Amino acid sequence: MSSIVVALGGNALASSEDPSGYTAEHQIAQIARTSAVLAEIIAGGQSLVIIHGNGPQVGNLLVKNDLARDVVPAVPLYWCVAQTQATIGMELTAALKRELAARGISVPVVPALTRVRVDATDAAFDNPTKPIGLVVSGDTPPDIPLPDTHAWRAAGRMRWQRVVPSPRPVEIVDTDTIAMVTDVGGIVVACGGGGIPVVERDGELVGADAVIDKDRTAVLLAKLVKARRLVILTDVDGVALDFGTDKQRFLDRVSVSEMGRYLESGQFGSGSMDAKVSAAIEFVRLTGESAAIGNLKQVRRVIEGRSGTSVVADPA
Ligand code: ADP
Ligand code: MG
Repeated sequence: MSSIVVALGGNALASSEDPSGYTAEHQIAQIARTSAVLAEIIAGGQSLVIIHGNGPQVGNLLVKNDLARDVVPAVPLYWCVAQTQATIGMELTAALKRELAARGISVPVVPALTRVRVDATDAAFDNPTKPIGLVVSGDTPPDIPLPDTHAWRAAGRMRWQRVVPSPRPVEIVDTDTIAMVTDVGGIVVACGGGGIPVVERDGELVGADAVIDKDRTAVLLAKLVKARRLVILTDVDGVALDFGTDKQRFLDRVSVSEMGRYLESGQFGSGSMDAKVSAAIEFVRLTGESAAIGNLKQVRRVIEGRSGTSVVADPA
């Protein structure tokens, strides 16, 4: 049976608004709650492929780089992405294994370290847009020197967040593990944090200073595994028009053309909801199937299309 690609938001696993949302305990608890529902859905016979984000988590690793650079050498951003794949992937697979075992189900659950190729000439390398890590308060941006390709961006009044390049994913490099696991009916957690970004240089793949948006990579993953549905779970109830204003209203079910028009009109910010909406549109256009964007807290209802925003093919 063809699978559903489920994308778990990094911000939904760890809140960037509140440092207590960043503790390991908080994230483990969020993963445990989510995994219990996903295991229930797998127990019902549905096959899932899981991808997760890492915005808060990778941002925190960069803070450690910044603060400790006089003590231990700073490590490249793509290493930090790999580290978040490992930790979040480990917690997710551990929780899923436990929840599946509790339901008497024995299938392989495998976290796949996945590199994703981006284009070295992608304009995103000169224009950082992806917000990562904690939002900090202050009249001026924090006094922390950033690499040339990173910047501080205003995240509301007197609030700042680091932005990094977020190039378009071109190709999933490490497809072998994904195929091996799905071929035997296993559950794979792949392309975490959008994938470890690499670029081709002199015929070799080398790490890149970027964080790919996992929603965009989710489309490549969905294509790879021939998914029948893409479900993007985040920390809001779906896609809203006039978000954050008193006219805000969440969309329930929207055709792909109508959603395309909202996207072009700039409704969805930059570096967050716009990536989800683009991914949903691309998936629906590619497959004619539907995509959903909703709240991680409502994971089952969103997967079943009873909560969140559905993007569906245009009527014939
Ligand atoms: P994730 O970690 O799940 O990818 P993001 O922060 O990237 O989370 O995206 C979700 C965020 O998008 C929401 O918390 C919300 O602040 C923001 N957002 C921007 N525009 C909209 C919109 N039009 N409707 C809903 N959410 C929006
Ligand atoms: Mg995001």
